[in-house]
Amino acid sequence: MHTMHTIHDYLNALKNGGYRITDQRRAVCDFLAHTPTHPTPSDVYWALSLTHPETSRATVYNTLNALRDLGAIVEISVGSDHTHYDTNPEPHVNLVCLRCEQVVDYDGDVPLAALYETVRAHTGFQAVSAQVQMVGFCAECQARRRDEIRRQLQASAITSPREETNQ
Ligand SMILES: [Zn+2]
Ligand SMILES: [Zn+2]
Repeated sequence: MHTMHTIHDYLNALKNGGYRITDQRRAVCDFLAHTPTHPTPSDVYWALSLTHPETSRATVYNTLNALRDLGAIVEISVGSDHTHYDTNPEPHVNLVCLRCEQVVDYDGDVPLAALYETVRAHTGFQAVSAQVQMVGFCAECQARRRDEIRRQLQASAITSPREETNQ
């Protein structure tokens, strides 16, 4: 289930954080309110460069950092230098592929909300959001990997025919 913040949720977060609402910041909020994906910072920048060419990379990145610090979006790190933003405020599981680096929401029902009470009862921690990252390989990447292994085996069978005659 991918629930979305509205643009007003993002604008209010910025206002409450003491940020002035400029056209460029509004454009970033508008993009986040409508993307169904988990965009990287450069995804956001490239999308806006088409519709708002005056928007600088620094402004996009600063606005994303501000929204992250304000808790309006959640940063997901994949590998060493790959960051995605999660715009889905509902407790949910992200499926993170280590090969194609795509991040998708798992659509099934997961009792993460029940965890809030358990955690609160044990630690007093008041959670406002919960994302669980499940890290691994997507179905497409597994199929590609099987293809690669098969081609490697075929290639080695062609380049070393003597193995067959020796047996
Ligand atoms: Zn993949
Ligand atoms: Zn997600």
